[in-house]
Amino acid sequence: MKVIERLLELQELEMGPKAEAPGSRSIIDALRKEVPEPILAHYDRLRARGKKGVALVRHGVCSGCQMRLATGVHAALLRDEDIAMCDNCARYLLVAPELPPPTPEPPPKKAPVRRRRRKAAPDPSA
Ligand SMILES: [Zn+2]
Repeated sequence: MKVIERLLELQELEMGPKAEAPGSRSIIDALRKEVPEPILAHYDRLRARGKKGVALVRHGVCSGCQMRLATGVHAALLRDEDIAMCDNCARYLLVAPELPPPTPEPPPKKAPVRRRRRKAAPDPSA
């Protein structure tokens, strides 16, 4: 798992409704140990101001500030080379997994068609 994914998980735990839930504390502590100190420090600074430290990127747009990322930043992010940060809101960026388009109604399941095995007809020319 990537550092930034751990950070997102940490953020969702710390800033989500489960932050006070029993058991969350130990998971939070474990996640904090996995994230390098400078990254954690930046995340904590943002969080102290009530901001999220990690923003998901969808179609090249930062979900934190709704600004389109610079082409170079987005390209580096897609190449998965390094931890990228939004130029505008200074959040760490993580490319959101592309979700398949939602299917409104699943088609009714058809009963599997049974094929009858036909006996090979004798060849009339034989
Ligand atoms: Zn941003």
